[in-house]
Order: sequence, then structure tokens, then C-alpha cells
Amino acid sequence: MLNENHTTKFPLDAVSEGILACSVAPFKPSKAAELIAAELSVISPAGAAALANCGHFPISRARPIAVYQGTGAGGLSVGNLRRCRSRRCPICGPQIRKQLANIWAARAAQASEKGCGAAMLRFSLSRCEPGELAPMLTELLCDFKRAVPPLSRWPSAPSGWLGGDWSTEIDFDAEARTWHPHIHMQAFRVGGGFTPGQLDDLKARGFSYAELSASPVAVARYNAKARNAKAHILGLIDLAELGLVDQVAEYLAAIHGRRLRASSRLLSAFVGLPGGDNDAALAGQALRVSTEQTPLRIFSAVEWRSALTA
Ligand SMILES: [Zn+2]
Repeated sequence: MLNENHTTKFPLDAVSEGILACSVAPFKPSKAAELIAAELSVISPAGAAALANCGHFPISRARPIAVYQGTGAGGLSVGNLRRCRSRRCPICGPQIRKQLANIWAARAAQASEKGCGAAMLRFSLSRCEPGELAPMLTELLCDFKRAVPPLSRWPSAPSGWLGGDWSTEIDFDAEARTWHPHIHMQAFRVGGGFTPGQLDDLKARGFSYAELSASPVAVARYNAKARNAKAHILGLIDLAELGLVDQVAEYLAAIHGRRLRASSRLLSAFVGLPGGDNDAALAGQALRVSTEQTPLRIFSAVEWRSALTA
């Protein structure tokens, strides 16, 4: 049916009787996706509907499911899934972050190769109580943009300044019961490392942390990480998985309509690599990669159904 090392697309009902038998297998969104979609429906009904449908298979002869042969006997994977491509989605969100981390790491590697210096920066205000996240986020983003304005309005910028790739991280500390919104940034400059004086100047502008990046590639990945390693520091997906409804609702309302990350255009021009600013494009790239790398083994209707609803 499928040749070795060959990828093909064909209507689902041509695959096998076993798969056809469960072609209408009920899609079961995760509890986390259900909770986020329910809370999101108040803010963005269209976004909530897309998220709730993420992972659905639009089965038809006009738009067949793609089945990919992976390596090894019997290894198959599926494509053509409907994806919401939202950073708020438990499936797409981590994929977007993972893809962004790879893109930023490639930029950092290229910048190092071209002799750039890099500084690891963090911008944060004090932690805030439940109910205060939205105004705190507004203040944080305003202060951050004031600290690093466009080059033309920042005459004291470190010489050779190329800006940086930055991302807002919003954590809920489950032990202290406080929000901790903060910004990670990796800044670059042409012609070697930042001087101690330049780092001090950045701290004076409001950065709570400004040190040389010993490993710019690792820092780039860290700044776009999908999950926090500490168990009590919770992001949106963690909050949803734990069923913390109030925190999920506050998080979604606070981030709605905001630009929470950006890549330096100066750096893009210097290294010749785009910054990956588009969520939908990042999700699409991640999906392509996972389709090729994660073969789905199908031996029976039961396995097919459990793979779809896992
Ligand atoms: Zn999704």
C-alpha cells in the first residue's frame, strides 16, 4: 500500500477497513482545552470556537486526511488536522514556543558567528495579587518600551546596539499565590561583548538583571520556553490542567489583544534570519515537523481512536 520512505495522501476510506470503521471517531478535547475555550468564549467567541475544534479531522473526499509513512514497519502518522494555531491552545501553544525557541537559537548562533556580543536581560516589576494582572501587565509593557525605545529616540543606546528578541512570561506562583509577569530579552551588539558600564546603564534603565550571555543559543531557547521547570510556577496551560478557573480567566483577559513578544528587526537584517513573529506560521512549521517526525502506528481501530483522543 505504501512504499518504503514514501509519503502519500489519499482518502481515509482507502487506508483500511479498520480505519474506515472509526473514521467518525469522536474527538475528545483535553480538559485543559475545554476550560480555556470556555473562559475564552467570553472574550473571543471565534477564538474559543477555533480552539475547541483544534485537532478535529475534517474528513471528506475533497479534503482527505494525509497519512504519512514513518520509519519502521507499520509506522504511520496523520496530517491535514484542523489546528487553531493560537498561543493559548494546549496543543498549538507549546508548539509555537518550541518553534520560536529554535528560530531565536538560530539567530543567536548566527550573531555569535558574526562576532556579536550578547546580553541576557530581565525586566520585571513587583509581583501582584490575583485581580491585578491586567494593570500590572500594562505598566510592565509601558515601562519596558520606555527603557528600550527605538534607536532614533535613544541616543545613549550601547554602541553597536542591535536590539534584541524579547518575550513576556506570565507566571502564577502557586505557593505565594501571586502573579509574576516579567520580560526576558536577549540583546545583541555588533563588535563583541557588552562592557560592564553598558550593562550598568541597562540596569539603570530598569532592567532587574543584565549580564553577559555566556551561551546565547541556550538563552534564546530559555527565553521562549514553553514550560517552567519549577513545579509551583504555573503558566496558562498548567493553570488550565489544574482546573484553576479564576486564574485562567484572569490570564486570558489580561493578555487579550496585547503584543507580548517581538524580535529585533536590526538583528534580522544583520544575521539575515527572520524573527518568527507570526504565531500561525510558527504553528504551521511545527505541525509539518511533527508530522514528519512522529509516526503514528496504527494496528487496530482501538489504537486509532486512542491516538486521536490522547
Ligand atoms: Zn490549537
